[in-house]
Parts: sequence; C-alpha cells; structure tokens
Amino acid sequence: MCGIVGAVAEWNIVPVLLEGLRRLEYRGYDSCGIAYLEIGAANEQQPAPQLKRAAGVEIGAANTQQLASELKRVRSVARVGELTQRASAISSLTGIAHTRWATHGEPSESNAHPHFSHDEIGVVHNGIIENFEPLRVRLKQSGYSFVTQTDSEVVAHLIHSHYTNGNGDLLEAVQSAVGEMQGAYAIAVVSAREPHRLIGARAGSPLVVGLGDKSTGENFLASDASALQPVTQRFQYLEEGDLVDVRLGSVRIVDRNGATVERAEHVVALGSDAVELGPYSHYMQKEIFEQPRAISDTLESVADITPALFGEKAADILPACDSVLILAAGTSYYAGLIARYWLESIAGIPCQVEIASEYRYRDSVPNPNA
Ligand code: GLU
Repeated sequence: MCGIVGAVAEWNIVPVLLEGLRRLEYRGYDSCGIAYLEIGAANEQQPAPQLKRAAGVEIGAANTQQLASELKRVRSVARVGELTQRASAISSLTGIAHTRWATHGEPSESNAHPHFSHDEIGVVHNGIIENFEPLRVRLKQSGYSFVTQTDSEVVAHLIHSHYTNGNGDLLEAVQSAVGEMQGAYAIAVVSAREPHRLIGARAGSPLVVGLGDKSTGENFLASDASALQPVTQRFQYLEEGDLVDVRLGSVRIVDRNGATVERAEHVVALGSDAVELGPYSHYMQKEIFEQPRAISDTLESVADITPALFGEKAADILPACDSVLILAAGTSYYAGLIARYWLESIAGIPCQVEIASEYRYRDSVPNPNA
C-alpha cells in the first residue's frame, strides 16, 4: 500500500502534490502520477462524454451538464523527481497524486494511478479491491471499457456509474460505490464537474485530512501526515468506514452510516528528519539505525505498559491465549520474528509468524485460542 496526496486551494497546488509524493518515497513505490483539474480548459463545444447506453442503464443529470474543467494527468514509471520535472510547468487549484506499489498489473505508465473514467472522474487508490472481478464484469456489461490491468480502475468506473445514474452528487456517488467494494482501500476522488472538491474514503488503509489556513481555505488529504508537513500541521484522522468531503473552506466527515461526525483535530509536527534520508544511503538503513530512538520514543509516549495497550478487552483475552500468531509484512514481519523469540522465551507460549499477504489467500486453520 503506497501513497496518496490531494489538495484544493486558491493557489497552485501542484508543488504540494509533488512534494507530498517526494515525502512518501520512503515507503517504496514502482510508479507515480498526478491528476489535476484545468479550469477554463473544458471543451464547451462538445457535449459531456456520454456513457454508452446499455439496456436498463439510465444516464442521470450529471451527464447532461457541461464539464466545469478538464481532468488531466501526468504519470511516470521513473522516480518522483522525473515526474516533478515533467509537471513543473503545470498549475492547478485541485488535484490528487499517488505513488503505486503494484498488486494487480505490472508497474507501467498505463497501470499507474490516477485512473480515469470518461475523463470525468479521477481516482487514486491504496490497497486491494478483492471483488474487482465481478464488478468489472458488471461494469463492462454496462458499457465501460477497461484500459488497465489494475483492480483500482474498477473504482473510477464504479463511482462514475453511480455519479451518472444517481443525482450527480460526488459524495453520494462515492458513498454508493464504497458500499459495493470489498477489500482494503484509501481513495481520493476528483470530478471534472466539481472544481475545488475532493472526496476521500478509507477502510483498512489510512487516510488523513490536512486542515489548511482558515483565512485562505485550502484543505488537503494524504495517506500519511508526513506528506503534508510543509503546508499544515493540523490533522484529522479518518476512522474505519469514514468518507470526507474536502472543499475550499470546508471539510465534512461522514461515518459509514452517512451521519456527519466530528473527528478530533491533532497537531502533528514532524521534523524534516522523519522523511529525509540524511546521512543514510537508503531508507532501510535509516530505519535500522533509528530503531533505538523509535523504541525509546514509543516507550516514553505510554505511561504504563499494561494489557490495555492491546485493546479494551485485552486483560481478559490475553490470559486465555495458549499461542500467538503474528501476521505481518515487510519490516513488521522481521520485527515479528524477533517478537517470537521473546514471546516463547519470556511468556513460554508457542508463537508463529506469517507473511500476511500469503496467509490471507490460503485456507489456514487458526488456533481459536491464539
Ligand atoms: N492495488 C492497486 C494497484 O495495483 C493499488 C496498489 C497500491 O496500494 O499502491 O494499482
């Protein structure tokens, strides 16, 4: 799962998107891209793109209006630095950006995000849509053409189908689309019909809202607060199932039931050393050398080490466990292997460590008391 940045402002947000991607590079990626709205570039001579009508599919109000702006993108299989050079002359007030770590489809420019539907809806996605195959079949039957090998393209077309067949409100279209999506996702969505608006949604992958200067109204989205440090230190973390309507001058978060909710505002001030390589030759080396500090910072942030740190009911559940199963990936898998030594030698109970992405797709037989 890789990186997302989104921004709306009264000033050019393209440098924010590109710097955000640069700050997310430490997570690793195979390709990257930005999509932005070019206001005034809409082709007023031609009617809005029409979805090829299929039996039973009605085209809703949104498709009968003129596009307010043109949705454009730049994508690259090289580094964010190369994307930055290619995008340096672009200026836009609304956009989304992504670093991709391919799960479905090879790393290539056409598989790189953002993905478009009818040059009208633009989407970036972190995670995996588990039911993308049946959704793709259904959307193809409704006239949608797929041009990538990714699971994520289905998200763009699904939102477009709800947008055109519903009442033309982007938040409601995303709400309906996520209701049909299974899997893990954080998404950021733009519509060429709605400049100065971004919709975000998350389930299983993180997404944070960056609150900009109130007097000028800019607001942001990102998968990680470190991406937005140059523009804000005020954040709202979306909870599981939340959607967010990010506009110039306002942010509205709704929960999975559609109720408007308040999420606490946090001030997150990360030093530049959190994302810069500094004296290290690569990010894994940096991570290894920063371990002593990371451990002491973590221990300092908790008053007492009690079972409650593992969740409300942990004090009751932990004594009943007769083994431990650690599911992890990448660095956390290696950390899990170390934890196994400690759990077995100190707690004296068997411990198994598995790579989460493999475990997910096999018929495992978990110990009910693990
Ligand atoms: N599953 C998506 C893809 O392969 C998103 C991967 C990611 O999280 O970067 O394009």
